[in-house]
Amino acid sequence: MSATLPTLILKPGEAYRIVAGHPWVYRSSILRQTATPTDGELAQVKDHRQRLLGVGCYNSKSKISVRVLAPERITLDQPFFDGRLAAALALRQRHLPRATSFRVVNAESDFLSGLIVDKYEDVVVLQISALGMERHKEKIVTAVRRLLSPKIILERSDAAARKFEGLPEANGVVWAATPVDAGNVSTTVTLNGLKFAVDLLGGHKTGMYLDQQANYQAVGALASGADVLDCFSFLGGFGLHAARAGARRVHLLDQSEAVVQGAQRNAGLNGLTDRVTAETANVFDWLKARTTVRPHERVIPRYDLIVLDPPSFTRNRASVGDALRGYKEIHLRALKLLKPGGVLATFCCSHHVGATTFQDVILSAAYDTRHLLRRIATYAQGLDHPILPMIPETEYLKGFAFELVR
Ligand code: SAH
Repeated sequence: MSATLPTLILKPGEAYRIVAGHPWVYRSSILRQTATPTDGELAQVKDHRQRLLGVGCYNSKSKISVRVLAPERITLDQPFFDGRLAAALALRQRHLPRATSFRVVNAESDFLSGLIVDKYEDVVVLQISALGMERHKEKIVTAVRRLLSPKIILERSDAAARKFEGLPEANGVVWAATPVDAGNVSTTVTLNGLKFAVDLLGGHKTGMYLDQQANYQAVGALASGADVLDCFSFLGGFGLHAARAGARRVHLLDQSEAVVQGAQRNAGLNGLTDRVTAETANVFDWLKARTTVRPHERVIPRYDLIVLDPPSFTRNRASVGDALRGYKEIHLRALKLLKPGGVLATFCCSHHVGATTFQDVILSAAYDTRHLLRRIATYAQGLDHPILPMIPETEYLKGFAFELVR
């Protein structure tokens, strides 16, 4: 084994999280260091009694000084990445045996802090948000090629997090079996047997919201015969599943013109245009316009199933208050448009708003509109986005289906 790694000693009391399995060693928790580690290279972390806690990549530019990769000494060679990726893939194959598009590596939940690997059929998209992973990109690409035999590997390293690591944005083709037009990498992704055309370099996240794959199917199953409103529809994930499951009519709403066109195309790809309409609109304004009435007028409830799957209204703890007001507003208005016996399927993807808080907001909207709700389902992120409760940040997506009792 090579020479001793630079050692960072933690302040008393700072070791527990790391022992429990949380990989982030904050700069503020470090007591002293034996040598200055090199940015992007391995360092070892010990408690103040010199007991080894873990080994991971160091970055002086980040508030997270070390992202621990293992509790013991490791070498970041090709077998390391081959092994971690193979273990992550095996988990998906066990839990999602039929899926052809899914998240292969979900950063911390797969013991690779700073790395996301998404598989969209035969295209793989990487998102690297930590210097340590950036340094080993070639090995990651090799491991992906060996394991998944893709035709194309893209990089969507445009997450805001890169800035905090001192990394520039990187977007484009990393590897391709045959030359590709880097200006236009789109592919047709199959989710639960439905087809979605996705713009993999220009779209949201790494292309789609793979974390909702199982929920599309589950919510769709509630839609038989229903008039459905899919708010914040993006490419139509919920709405098209509802249409296929026998919804009478589905209306998709999204504020992005390009997204709405994409959703319409996807309705066509699946032969569902007879039942699906899509509109470019701000959901807040759209709902407000349909639920604001003059005195003595009543709002006429029109929908049997309303889906609310907004973007995260808060990226940090400080703006949680505003976010909750936003969530309450859309629930208030959606409840007014829901027929008695109808279902509201609603999601929150902010880590900073927990399931209990989220439900409280919905109940407070139901109180204000004098509705009584029965909870008929709870939802979470798909199993390809594993949750490690010891790493609270790995849990973010929560959802409920409520039936309007009255
Ligand atoms: N339900 C989608 C994901 C939604 S992501 C799916 O499962 O694929 C959030 C979407 O909301 C984005 O497509 C974004 O364009 C849209 N959006 C954000 N704010 C909006 C607003 N105020 N009104 C309408 N659409 C909005």
